[in-house]
Amino acid sequence: MMQSITILGATGSIGLSALDVIARHPQRYRIHALTAQSSVEALADLAARFKPAIAVIADPALESQLREALRSRGATSVARAGRAALVEVAQSAEVDTVLAAIVGAAGLVPTIAAAEAGKRLLLANKEAVVCAGALLVAAVQRGGGELLPVDSEHNAIHQCLAGVREAERRGARLVLTASGGPFRTRDDLETVTPDEACAHPNWVMGRKISVDSATLMNKGLEVIEASWLFGMPAERIEVVIHPQSVIHSMVEFADGSVLAQMGSPDMRTPLAYALAWPERIVSGARRLDFTQLGALTFEAPDRRRFPCLDYAYQALLRGNAAPTVLNAANEVAVQAFLDGRLRFTEIAPTIERVLAACDPAAPRSVEDVLEIDREARERALDCTALRA
Ligand code: NDP
Repeated sequence: MMQSITILGATGSIGLSALDVIARHPQRYRIHALTAQSSVEALADLAARFKPAIAVIADPALESQLREALRSRGATSVARAGRAALVEVAQSAEVDTVLAAIVGAAGLVPTIAAAEAGKRLLLANKEAVVCAGALLVAAVQRGGGELLPVDSEHNAIHQCLAGVREAERRGARLVLTASGGPFRTRDDLETVTPDEACAHPNWVMGRKISVDSATLMNKGLEVIEASWLFGMPAERIEVVIHPQSVIHSMVEFADGSVLAQMGSPDMRTPLAYALAWPERIVSGARRLDFTQLGALTFEAPDRRRFPCLDYAYQALLRGNAAPTVLNAANEVAVQAFLDGRLRFTEIAPTIERVLAACDPAAPRSVEDVLEIDREARERALDCTALRA
């Protein structure tokens, strides 16, 4: 049956990879809506090619520019703008599946809206589950839809757990693999530039997640994400550095068996899995050639040089709003680093200070999350004199 899809964050790395997979299967998928924050021309190009019913630009000031860009390309999509329009296309009755691929907590509201509306939710936007895990899981349950993880580690775990009974899951442990990022073996982190931090050795990704990979905060966010998505406590989630990024994560069962999911480092594989689940479709990703792989190696993360990983574990153990605060402080610090206002080595201390200074109660609503997020961002700006 034809699936109708909304892609939140269509102009980003994940959005474009998803569209690449979708373009290979025109008989299975049709696009209802594509969204972007401010990339008007890129959004209009995609609208001309994929012919969504609606194109949404989140920045309301760009609505007329989008309309003009669509007109000049002969694209017939209706132009919409603003955050309310993101929610509308996430919960529209015309839509079966929503890919949540906005970066950061900015994706939270439309992602929750899709879950509440019972859509099949393909979740890439890890910050949404980090800052509002309990609310998102409850929204999926209330909505009656399903959540399929796109993040390659969680997608790997989903694959390893498919068909495993609840009783066996309870005795399992998750092993998240991490490439170690571009600075695994580099000592002088003081002088790291944004372009160096974004030059990931194995994956091509957006700039924010690339910096998160370089600090290991990405893995920390993934530990929190895994805890919510698979109902696992922190002590049953381990992180291991695997520089080749061939094994995307593993599950160890009570009897000592370990199941791993492997593949070339290409997000089209987890996207194709999530799009077609429980079926399998061609993704366009290169096949693994085992004769060319060489050694697969593993090592412990260097927690002294990359303390963000432990801050995330601590936030998960602390509970309440600590993950929301962690995420907000990280977003502010990473943006300041990318803008040249903060050194790479100041990202972790900024997060540590904000976590020490803020300890709000657990959020009970999305509005609570947004308020905690706002306060933590203010605190991060104050802590580090980051105000532009
Ligand atoms: P990108 O920066 O490449 O793309 C982000 C997308 O979100 C763009 O379409 C952007 O629009 C849009 N956007 C940015 N800010 C806002 C906002 N405030 N409101 C609405 N839309 C916004 O990010 P990635 O594709 O790399 O990552 C997206 C998400 O997927 C992140 O949460 C990331 O952690 C996760 N992820 C990414 C992976 C990857 O390989 N890239 C792997 C696993 C998870 P515009 O172009 O106009 O700025």
